[in-house]
Amino acid sequence: MKRYVYNFGNGKADGNASMKDILGGKGANLAEMTNINLPVPPGFTISTEVCEYYYKNNKQLPKSIKTAINESIKVLENNTNCLFGDHNKPLLVSVRSGSRASMPGMMDTILNLGLNDSTIIGLAKSTNNERFAYDSYRRFIQMYADVVLEVDSSLFEDALENLKYENNIELDTELSTNHLKQLVDIFKKIIKKEINLDFPQNPNDQLWKAIAAVFDSWGNTRAVTYRKLNNIPSEWGTAVNIQSMVFGNMGDDSGTGVAFTRDPSSGKNIFYGEYLLNAQGEDVVAGIRTPLPLTLLNSQNQKNQSSLEEVMPKIFAQLNKMRVKLEKHYKDMQDIEFTIQQGKLYLLQTRNGKRTAEAGVRIAVELVKEKIINKQEALLRVPPESLNQLLHPTLDPSANFELLISGLPASPGAVSGKIVLNSEEAEKMALSGERVILVRLETSPEDISGMHAAAGILTARGGMTSHAAVVARGMGRACITGANELRIDESDRKIFFGKKELDSGTEITIDGSSGDVYLGIVPTIYPEMSSEYDKLMSWSDQYRRMKVRTNAETASDVKTAKEFGAEGIGLCRTEHMFFDEKRISVMRQMILADSKEERTLALNKLLPMQRLDFESIFLLMEGQPVTIRLLDPPLHEFLPSSQHEIDLVCKEMGVKKEVLRQRLIQLEEANPMLGHRGCRLAITYPEICEMQATAILEAAANVQKKISNSIQIEIMIPLVSSKKEIVFCKNIIDEVANKISKKLNCNFNYLVGTMIEIPRAALLSSQLAEVADFFSFGTNDLTQTVFGISRDDSGTFLNEYIEGGFYINDPFVSIDENSVGELVSISAKNGKLSNKEIKLGICGEHGGDPKSIRFFEKISLDYVSASPFRVPIARLSAAQASILNKSA
Ligand code: PEP
Ligand code: MG
Repeated sequence: MKRYVYNFGNGKADGNASMKDILGGKGANLAEMTNINLPVPPGFTISTEVCEYYYKNNKQLPKSIKTAINESIKVLENNTNCLFGDHNKPLLVSVRSGSRASMPGMMDTILNLGLNDSTIIGLAKSTNNERFAYDSYRRFIQMYADVVLEVDSSLFEDALENLKYENNIELDTELSTNHLKQLVDIFKKIIKKEINLDFPQNPNDQLWKAIAAVFDSWGNTRAVTYRKLNNIPSEWGTAVNIQSMVFGNMGDDSGTGVAFTRDPSSGKNIFYGEYLLNAQGEDVVAGIRTPLPLTLLNSQNQKNQSSLEEVMPKIFAQLNKMRVKLEKHYKDMQDIEFTIQQGKLYLLQTRNGKRTAEAGVRIAVELVKEKIINKQEALLRVPPESLNQLLHPTLDPSANFELLISGLPASPGAVSGKIVLNSEEAEKMALSGERVILVRLETSPEDISGMHAAAGILTARGGMTSHAAVVARGMGRACITGANELRIDESDRKIFFGKKELDSGTEITIDGSSGDVYLGIVPTIYPEMSSEYDKLMSWSDQYRRMKVRTNAETASDVKTAKEFGAEGIGLCRTEHMFFDEKRISVMRQMILADSKEERTLALNKLLPMQRLDFESIFLLMEGQPVTIRLLDPPLHEFLPSSQHEIDLVCKEMGVKKEVLRQRLIQLEEANPMLGHRGCRLAITYPEICEMQATAILEAAANVQKKISNSIQIEIMIPLVSSKKEIVFCKNIIDEVANKISKKLNCNFNYLVGTMIEIPRAALLSSQLAEVADFFSFGTNDLTQTVFGISRDDSGTFLNEYIEGGFYINDPFVSIDENSVGELVSISAKNGKLSNKEIKLGICGEHGGDPKSIRFFEKISLDYVSASPFRVPIARLSAAQASILNKSA
């Protein structure tokens, strides 16, 4: 017969910590704590399999469970020397949920079950404490009514408040026995009035209904939503823990509290927690009374508060011992719940404690120093994404401000500034020393300088990989996209945040880590990089196989990325270098040129500018590899789009409006993702490729004289779909290289490779690898072409779309291993087969995504390239991937 019930108590348990799947987190740890001789009140756990049965069988419990539970109750009675339902010395129990994954506060709990009008008398007598007995009874009635009978809990709270008010009482602990007796009567009347039922008096009925209610709470809306948000499968189900009650509400020698074995906010190795005297269970967490600090150290910060360390030094010393024992046993910081009953300490729960990123890093590193875990374990402990919290300013958690609207947390960091509605204004105001937030419906490549000038960016449209999001992450600017309650009235310069109307120039704060927008300036804190962070990153470097490069083209981005540990540049998007105010007009001259001569004239003006850019990059990278991509986007992206801009450009360039209009029509792309862009630009205008190759190689020759390491140049041809295209461009590059090395009498160390960003290229990889020195997977374009979804009308990626009527997750956040990943894998394998020297890397956004990085490790890529602020995340992810891959 299947086992459904597992006992624990008196130093012996049927289960242990490894049985989370069937006992749930709480049940498994109660068993484990019992096994290691910690003072856990005895009890038993009804397994998650019962929950599964319950839902599969029309909410019926399996037949055999009745006998099993009755037997376990008998064991409990023997252990506690009390009897369930007895009117002399009644056994009272708690009934709590507990699933595999922690779902804090999502499901239900009932305390003091077993009380009725007769057992209450026994409880009062046997404990010689009538006040405590009625305090427990009124709590039980309220909880049971709420969870099982579904009577609105606020009716009971109001009744309690009324009684306190009428009797001029402030604290629950000041209620007399008579007051509590009155409350019990009032509560029973509320139930009668609301559901026309008397409060159930049979303890067995109470128990069965409570068990069913806990299973039902697995299906409540709160729990269902929480599971969806946290990817917890609904099949898992919850366990139910029935445990004999210990009472923290028996007077001033009793109490209850929660504690963390280390400070969960800083990670410091200090005991941290709160407690309340003469209180029960949920009082501390529910905030009914303000709890007091656990330690003397904390109480000194909060004047006039007596810590547990002072009030009950012996209990505190015991608790402190348990803290050490628990950490050694679980090898991690623990979050514990305890109760003190008449001077005796009990532990009711332990679990790995939630912590800030800063604490996460510090705890992991210090546990290694304390020889509790090894370096690999420490690396696996820190979620790579959490490092984001460390690298960007965060809102001061003690501040309290008006929330305006929320959007998508596109690029982390919390910044304040005045609202500006266009890039020009952003630049002007930034120049005069103002901090601004660029607020737009969406951004386009022309906004680069405005985005750079702004402290943060907020857009109404676009997803997590929209132009605004990608560029902002690259620049390390805070950014919120897709704030769809945002409306902009450009003509009146008014902005509507939902119903709230603000003028341009008003100060707001955006939190790119949460997606929230606040009114005014909310104070922020800029966390310093700790020595523990440095240590963890150095271990990452020791354990990872893949190199980590960065996607960067400006000197400031390159510097930032180097500081964060980038070992090369995986993608320098040369087009970004042309959006500068002085350059864009030369670029436009080039685009508007009617003949090769005219075009060459413009290109000759661009050449020294490009050369200068590359020189600064080569200097900064000091011989680390630099991948420079030839011009990629369709040319219309460089031309103005609004009538106002068209007029302005014609005036500036002395071009007739008709000429510009004609050229705009010619260059317009029906689908800007494909068509006349990438290597096809170099094929129709070889002189563009020639100019860029010249700028790159001359820059390298100039810088090589200044640095000792040999410069590693990697020239990358974009959007290739055939071998011919590579050969065409490579011939131009080789010719230029020959010319320059003869002219300057120097040798170059350069590679010519290609991006794999369309499916055909991935499938023809063995041919491409015959002529390419490297492949860099452009998974941004590859994802779009594989999924067959393009950018939306505003030019931004669609971040969510419907597949056969279902919403699927953003395909741009993590690589879709079965489609895009499969193509990358085929391409890498075939590329390597035809050219065993070929270097393989990734420069799409997925290069900075932990889950995708794990996949790239599996298929043995040589490096990933991420935007500067994601470099540390990529370093840690690559280390984790390497460790996991070896242990798989
Ligand atoms: C890519 O397509 O993955 C890529 C890196 O190029 P871009 O994002 O510039 O199109
Ligand atoms: Mg691309």
